Amino acid sequence: MKCFVVMQGSTYQEEKELGFIWASKLDSSGMVSHSWERMTEVNEGDRVFHYVKRNIVAVSVATTGCQLAYRPVNLQNYESWNNKGYLVELDYHELEIPINIPSNFDNILPHLPIKYSPFQTNADGNQGYLYPCNEELSIELLELIGDLNIYQEDDVQLELAIGTVRPTERNTFIPLIFETESEAKAMIRLGRKKFRENLIPLWEHQCALCGIELPALLLASYSKPWKDSTELERLDPYNGILLCSNHGMLYEKGFIAFDGQGRLHISTKVPPGDYEKYGIHTKMKIARKEENKPYFRWHKRHLFLSQNK
Ligand SMILES: [Zn+2]
Repeated sequence: MKCFVVMQGSTYQEEKELGFIWASKLDSSGMVSHSWERMTEVNEGDRVFHYVKRNIVAVSVATTGCQLAYRPVNLQNYESWNNKGYLVELDYHELEIPINIPSNFDNILPHLPIKYSPFQTNADGNQGYLYPCNEELSIELLELIGDLNIYQEDDVQLELAIGTVRPTERNTFIPLIFETESEAKAMIRLGRKKFRENLIPLWEHQCALCGIELPALLLASYSKPWKDSTELERLDPYNGILLCSNHGMLYEKGFIAFDGQGRLHISTKVPPGDYEKYGIHTKMKIARKEENKPYFRWHKRHLFLSQNK
């Protein structure tokens, strides 16, 4: 199961009534857009969050994979679109209480990938159509949906003592939210377990910087985080370092980085007077493998907190 976010705006009502999403193959200048072509990645059973005017308003399940289809007649008004396109049929579940993205953005921002994020860093939606939604972002959205649409609703119903009277929609909606959340959590748990198992021997079962060996204190820290990695990169043991809790958090939060030679770089955010407290110094070097280099480079470029960030 994969999750996606679809940015619908004015097409939402029509697409919901007909039970699909549709995107053109090419734009008016004959170019391929990544957000339209992503329709081909949707499989039956995948989940889609529907974004309209700064809110997630519905969650749906794909009842088919991607099909080639001409522009449906109801969407004929959108003249700039090419006629040939991609269509996915969906079972829409509209939320009783939409999730407002800007007002929940503090929770959402840490889960946005650097590439192909549905939302900009100012909380606005991006201009494209279909975006990937990594498991961490999906879980956050599902928790927000659950808080507003399941738990608060149940409180109201209990207060009114009409807990047995429920719209039939809820009978399918609640399991959908729970199943999606638990599947996303299972994918992260299994992926991280496999990643850790394969990474530990590469670093001889100890923190690459200080040599701590207690397994409970060792983190398999990603260089390119889960939210930004492809499925292969998430399992690639070279996309990470075995570090103790202290050094692992310094690395994951971008306070330290490594160059192609494995030399430690320390962020200007860490005062030199504190190096000793953190167990770091500027001459440290780790025994990196050739395969670590592209991941170190990505981490240093995107996560390392340099003076300008
Ligand atoms: Zn350490």
